[in-house]
Amino acid sequence: MSENSKIEWTDHTFNPWEGCQKVGPGCDHCYAETRNARFAGGTAINWGPGSPRRRTSAANWRKPLAWNAQHEKFLAEHGRRQRVFCSSLADVFDNAVAPEWREDLLELIFSTPNLDWLLLTKRVGNVLGMVPADWLAGAWPAHVWLGATIVNQAEADRDIPKLLEVPAPVRFLSMEPLLGPVALDRLPLGPLAALYSGGRIDALRGGVWGERPDGERLRITHTPFGLDWVIVGGESGPGARPMHPDWARGVRDQCAEAFVPFLFKQWGEWLGARQDGSHSHDPIELNASDVPVRVGKKAAGRLLDGVQHDGFPIGHGGIA
Ligand code: SF4
Repeated sequence: MSENSKIEWTDHTFNPWEGCQKVGPGCDHCYAETRNARFAGGTAINWGPGSPRRRTSAANWRKPLAWNAQHEKFLAEHGRRQRVFCSSLADVFDNAVAPEWREDLLELIFSTPNLDWLLLTKRVGNVLGMVPADWLAGAWPAHVWLGATIVNQAEADRDIPKLLEVPAPVRFLSMEPLLGPVALDRLPLGPLAALYSGGRIDALRGGVWGERPDGERLRITHTPFGLDWVIVGGESGPGARPMHPDWARGVRDQCAEAFVPFLFKQWGEWLGARQDGSHSHDPIELNASDVPVRVGKKAAGRLLDGVQHDGFPIGHGGIA
């Protein structure tokens, strides 16, 4: 699926700089920090408050220009546009990054309109203050997608309303590592409370909804927002935490009901197991009494109830 990246949902990965700071439970086993420490003799020198981030080389910054120039060839071969994940070893909306670096990055993004840029952040609350004002006033580039990492219900409640506040043409979630069950259809209004007088957000269908005393849900108002894509994955690497199959199923089913594209990226290190000790690549028969076993990322695979889910949104290219 990918050209220059091992990540299932992108073709290229671009890191304008490296270095970051942990901001939540999804960061507990940050691969990027471990990698940074390995290359620096054991200490992650670009991590934490006050630590300088490291800008990547000029040669690295030229790569997106080359990918952009390959557009026609890629489109002919794959029938769609190239996707670029930015950033896997940092966060575009990190407060500790020099604003000039981010301006350079946004300029690079603006000058490569043949690429779909997938900006994935754990700091979605910073976005409104860190993008050009005209992006927020109706000129958000069609090839710039915005995603938030969400690992549990608390992060969903806190960050998805902030994501929906941003006028990006494609808004998506990366729910990896998924650490608990998450309901996406009844989120608090958060910053959107300034616009709507009550109710809760259905992030998949769009709209603000209320609930009658008998439990029936009613749409109070339509809204111009909703999620366009959801990715789910379990954790991999040292210290990985298991993902219960029902957590992934829950998000899958919510997306299916709302016709939102769903991609199941991986189980991670763990696979559910039956109590007799056997385990299966297809965890369709699991129930609450089953316990997970560590089989490794490759063996665990990426089938959910025997099905490979590779949903993608229809973005700027019109063909997903
Ligand atoms: S935001 Fe991403 S890169 Fe930064 S510490 Fe967390 S997991 Fe690592």
